[in-house]
Amino acid sequence: MRQYNASKKVLVTGGAGFLGSHLCDRLIEHGHDVLCVDNFFTGTKRNIEHLLGHPRFELMRHDVTFPLYVEVDEIFNLACPASPIHYQHDPVQTTKTSVHGAINMLGLAKRVRAKILQASTSEVYGDPEIHPQVEAYWGRVNPIGIRSCYDEGKRCAETLFFDYHRQHKLRIKVVRIFNTYGPRMHMNDGRVVSNFIVQALKGEDITIYGDGQQTRSFCYVDDLVEAMLRMMGTGDEVPGPINIGNPGEFSMLELANKVIELTGSKSQLMRMPLPADDPKQRRPDITLAQQELDGWAPKTQLEEGLKKTIAYFDKALSETTAD
Ligand code: NAD
Ligand code: UDP
Ligand code: UDP
Repeated sequence: MRQYNASKKVLVTGGAGFLGSHLCDRLIEHGHDVLCVDNFFTGTKRNIEHLLGHPRFELMRHDVTFPLYVEVDEIFNLACPASPIHYQHDPVQTTKTSVHGAINMLGLAKRVRAKILQASTSEVYGDPEIHPQVEAYWGRVNPIGIRSCYDEGKRCAETLFFDYHRQHKLRIKVVRIFNTYGPRMHMNDGRVVSNFIVQALKGEDITIYGDGQQTRSFCYVDDLVEAMLRMMGTGDEVPGPINIGNPGEFSMLELANKVIELTGSKSQLMRMPLPADDPKQRRPDITLAQQELDGWAPKTQLEEGLKKTIAYFDKALSETTAD
């Protein structure tokens, strides 16, 4: 069994964000020195405040579109806004973050000979004709739409990773992350899990975009972080790309009803227009992850993960009201 436990200097870009902060927690638990780099566009010090002052944790405010000269053994490149309202706020900066950010982190990895992992996304498959999505599928992405800054930025980052791998023999790891949820998600990021939970807790209408029949597969954050760590621990013969996510597939109507049930809310469903280029279905084929990541499979069922996330938002909302 491969282990990911020898102490290393690890850089996490986007480390003050939702996924990045959980990854920093796990890396510190494993005994690593962690350098968390973030420009705080969507991340917050609150996500990592419990790590501030830890002797093996360091926080650096920095934008990855600019060069970064540090000495590390491994890099997890997560910096990039992930929710549509955030990445569409400044789409040019989103593309720059994925593309210039990847070039800078790859240049850094090349200079210090670090292993580097890219947080890619199921969005590289666009609105897919193949279901569930396998890694060999090349995707169906609109290159000029409102989601393109994110989708094409991430696709270009994957290209850069594989070219640095072929051209400069870099040790790369590319994971394609499917919709992930859990504590420390942003309350106002417009993503479906945070929207539905916050609406239900406040007793507001639950906003169903389109007919609510579109599907997504939701992975709990702890399962996702475990897969990322296992991926980093694989040998050089495993560059990816590898899908990581939970294959349980739900329509948005099913999700809304589940959230209403678990919160005991009296919220009603409200129909809203479907945003442009919204994928109709999404579910990862995780056969490859199971093969390459020592039998990894998500352990947290949707109901259990939602309960933990609801508890987090409930507390966060009561703190906001108290302020
Ligand atoms: P997030 O918005 O919470 O985290 C992203 C972090 O990157 C934030 O802390 C933000 O401040 C930082 N950042 C953004 N631009 C930066 C820049 N130019 N320089 C430095 N830092 C910058 O989002 P997340 O959900 O934690 O996503 C983390 C990564 O995982 C992203 O790359 C995202 O594309 C990928 N991903 C996430 C999901 C998901 O469902 N959460 C799905 C697929 C892929
Ligand atoms: N870079 C960086 N940190 C380093 C080394 C490089 O941020 O420690 C950046 C630098 O800005 C460079 C980019 O990574 O432009 C790509 O580096 P590479 O060596 O591939 O290309 P070059 O330096 O020839 O442009
Ligand atoms: N969605 C919805 N109501 C909301 C927010 C999102 O019905 O309040 C839908 C959205 O149209 C999409 C799905 O939920 O079909 C997932 O949206 P999200 O933005 O969370 O993720 P992504 O589309 O990037 O997978």
